Amino acid sequence: MSNTKYIFVTGGVTSSLGKGIISSSIAKLLVARGFSVTIQKLDPYINIDPGTLNPYEHGECFVTDDGAETDLDLGHYERFSNVPTSQANNVTTGVIYQSVITKERQGEYLGETVQVIPHITDEIKYRIKLLANRGDYDFIITEIGGTVGDIESLPFIEAVRQMRWELGSNCVVVHLTLVPYLAAAGELKTKPTQHSVKTLLESGVQPDIIVCRTEKHLSEGIRNKIALFCNVSPSSVIESIDAESIYEVPVLMREENLDLEILKKTNMPFDREPDLTDWEQFLYALKHPSGEVNIGLVGKYVELKDAYKSINESFIHASTSNGVRVKVQTVHSEFLNDSNVSEKLGKLDGILVAPGFGERGIEGKIAAIKFARENMIPFFGICLGMQCAVIEFGRNVLGYQGAHSTEFDKQTPHPVIDMMEMQKKISGLGGTMRLGSYPCKLTPGSKVFQVYMQENIKERHRHRFEFNNAYMKAYTTAGMNAVGINQKDNLVEIVELQNHPWFIGVQFHPEYRSTVARPHPLFVSFVKAAKDYADR
Ligand code: GLN
Repeated sequence: MSNTKYIFVTGGVTSSLGKGIISSSIAKLLVARGFSVTIQKLDPYINIDPGTLNPYEHGECFVTDDGAETDLDLGHYERFSNVPTSQANNVTTGVIYQSVITKERQGEYLGETVQVIPHITDEIKYRIKLLANRGDYDFIITEIGGTVGDIESLPFIEAVRQMRWELGSNCVVVHLTLVPYLAAAGELKTKPTQHSVKTLLESGVQPDIIVCRTEKHLSEGIRNKIALFCNVSPSSVIESIDAESIYEVPVLMREENLDLEILKKTNMPFDREPDLTDWEQFLYALKHPSGEVNIGLVGKYVELKDAYKSINESFIHASTSNGVRVKVQTVHSEFLNDSNVSEKLGKLDGILVAPGFGERGIEGKIAAIKFARENMIPFFGICLGMQCAVIEFGRNVLGYQGAHSTEFDKQTPHPVIDMMEMQKKISGLGGTMRLGSYPCKLTPGSKVFQVYMQENIKERHRHRFEFNNAYMKAYTTAGMNAVGINQKDNLVEIVELQNHPWFIGVQFHPEYRSTVARPHPLFVSFVKAAKDYADR
């Protein structure tokens, strides 16, 4: 642990500048130089985790192998670095306070007055260092959520100040700010950056490197000005210009020497250049597609850019493997029905029905699935999307009138999707679903077997309901096969249609496992099927 270097990434001026992408890009560059890296996010909100937050609040909830419901930035970390994250990689104020209060109740503080400093800050520091005990990392990157100056993030910034003091050159603080362009003045403005660094200084933290998000290139004059007013050398002022794709950012950061600055400041070797060959090939393929496919993403959060983040990113990874551009068109399930489905989905080359909770938009999803099934359009159902495919097949092929999931209709005469036994005893929310990675055995000869080319797979889950095995025989006889089974609990994880070119529903979330280095085989295969459909 003593050799581990700590990189803190803070943000100033406004939110949404892309701290997660900068942190992920740093991770990517360091991994490409052969260092072992892990990356964590500290979130200042009081929820224990984002699992109970609705997507309107913070976008998608990302799930790790060990079943943590985390901030969507962890998805970026994995997609960029190809290193899996875990429960310990996302810590919220809620987790910190819960742990301190539990210790207080157990008498661990021996009668002391429990305070923000040192108890809360010690707990934060403990959580940051915990990762170092878990693995032999050269670097731990810690992204501090929120914007400096926020009341909520103060204890986190104080913990950074203390760690910086304790660790000396084993620690570097990267501060991301905005350098806005004022069209009327025709100028880039450095004042917000100066103020944001001053705010950080009020908390006793001097950033080592300043990354400036900007829409125009920073002149040398601007760089020098920021350096002078913010006490950093000009080489530590890094330009982060708006990019067409987030995947260009590591390359842009490389050109700006962000990784080199970090290595120099932490006294780490920098003789080896990062190997970005594969990454650059991916970027080339992304920019030079030889065709286009149109995929409809049917869900109820279509107006939210971040709600289906991992699915959208998985399509980007799968597009380059197929040499095409995937245009994902979001379709609002709430406004979809049997009479308008052909008009809304008729021109698509593939239809994906999204995961979700709650009844809103369910009938629209079912209409979309019926349309895809009857018209031989490639169909991919994820989690709730798979469950809706089972309901649709029950109602329209097996003739089970009113077939439903007991999530939406407790009295349904045909509960084809029902709550898992293990879920029935649970009353509380938050971390209580079937979460994380579970093994699944594929049926040799099935379409999914062809996709994975292996019998035993592991995928990540986040659900309470499942396929009702009482209906298994009827479904199989009618042509919907259960081709992936969790053998320990006898749960159906994958269904596919016999008489359809590509109709697959999965109870798990393949999108959480797709990375640039390893595009998910199901997405790759689905895009290929869509391409074949488009060619026809
Ligand atoms: N609501 C469904 C369940 O709990 C599906 C969940 C999901 O799509 N992640 O089983």
